[in-house]
Amino acid sequence: MNKPKLLWINVSFFLITFLVAFIGVPYWAFTHGFDDSVIIFAIICFIYCGMSITTGYHRLWSHKTYQAHWSLRLIFALGGAFALQNSILHWCSDHRIHHKHVDNNDVDPYSAKMGFWYSHIGWMLREYQASRYSDYSNVRDIQKDPIVRWQHKYYLLLVLLLNIGIPLAFGLYSGDVIGSLLLVGFLRLVLSHHTTFFINSLAHVWGKQTYTDKNTARDNGFIAFLTFGEGYHNFHHIFENDYRNGIRWWQFDPTKWLIKSCEYLRLTSKLRVSPEDRIAKAKLAMVLKRSQQKLQSHPDAEKLLERLQYEYDTLVNKINEYYAARKQVFAIKKQKLVNDVENSELMKQYQELKVLLAEQQRSWQLFTEKFA
Ligand SMILES: [Zn+2]
Ligand SMILES: [Zn+2]
Repeated sequence: MNKPKLLWINVSFFLITFLVAFIGVPYWAFTHGFDDSVIIFAIICFIYCGMSITTGYHRLWSHKTYQAHWSLRLIFALGGAFALQNSILHWCSDHRIHHKHVDNNDVDPYSAKMGFWYSHIGWMLREYQASRYSDYSNVRDIQKDPIVRWQHKYYLLLVLLLNIGIPLAFGLYSGDVIGSLLLVGFLRLVLSHHTTFFINSLAHVWGKQTYTDKNTARDNGFIAFLTFGEGYHNFHHIFENDYRNGIRWWQFDPTKWLIKSCEYLRLTSKLRVSPEDRIAKAKLAMVLKRSQQKLQSHPDAEKLLERLQYEYDTLVNKINEYYAARKQVFAIKKQKLVNDVENSELMKQYQELKVLLAEQQRSWQLFTEKFA
């Protein structure tokens, strides 16, 4: 099969920036050294680029997991052009296709099933899907945002202004122009590129399938550390409308923390989260599946599988009952239908269900840990 033709501009660009970052930067470090201020500014720019993509391009525009004030959207639009990852419109269009047709080699722009290299960078080096380059029919909603339209129209100009202007201006200010061009210009850009690319490559091969095995996406705390929280990619692919990727408070997800903090400043609103019971049941279904597979080869398989199914069904029932009661309690509290909600009959039932759920969770855990 003939491969599509190479996109020489992209190939040269990725190659040159990579070589300058990984040969030019160490050379300059040994022969001249870098000023602390340049190093710190490069780190700030790296964070700015990365988080504009994760908070803006990804969780705001691609998935609409929250709403943001225009000032924040402008900051992310500029950061995205600085990160040089195509316009918001183009990026989101690709990304929505990735979610809709994940792992489908014919449609998913960076399908992980095409291999690590392809999903990481290869997909941008050849004209793989030229026919839909300017088809933005799946992002009509975000075209209503004037900032998105403006950034798309002046994308190239913004890229040049930010990627040359910022390193040059900081170089002139700090008195180390070459140092700033190397660190703030090249190294920042290359690291920002490849850490984002890891979400399409590494986060689809390395890690746990905590919530689903219907696609290749994985949960991986280490990748989350490199990608401002996007490493909890298995969760993300099943609950894509959730503004969080790392849902536990201790999971490293600075993008989630930024969106939540901005809510207190009234810069973000309508943060969307997935229903807890759905999350719990997705996780449970995966434990069931893995346990069933492991028990297949057990000498007492039939009996144990039966017990496993019983424990699972009981737990799902308890989850359903508990969350239904919780919903009712919240509704009553909101509408103030009962004067003394805390001492109501419903509240007592709800507390009982909570205890029963915890008991069944313990029983399930003990059983699955022992045999699975
Ligand atoms: Zn996504
Ligand atoms: Zn993905």
